[in-house]
Amino acid sequence: MKIFATRSTCSLVKACKECKANYSQRSNLINHLASEHHLDVEGAPIKEQLSCTLCSFVTWAPHKLKNHKVCIKPI
Ligand SMILES: [Zn+2]
Ligand SMILES: [Zn+2]
Repeated sequence: MKIFATRSTCSLVKACKECKANYSQRSNLINHLASEHHLDVEGAPIKEQLSCTLCSFVTWAPHKLKNHKVCIKPI
């Protein structure tokens, strides 16, 4: 039995500390923190938005930039 589990910052925690929103997937929480609260997964404020190097797309959420591949054109 692991009694320290409730005290440590467990990787299974998927609830937002800011607004108590719950997510079944950690990636969704990371997305939520970035886009809603402009915080990274550690709770540190994100100062700059992430931007696409190929177009003017910008986002606070790293996963959204990851999913943003539509503008990449094959040469
Ligand atoms: Zn939140
Ligand atoms: Zn782009």
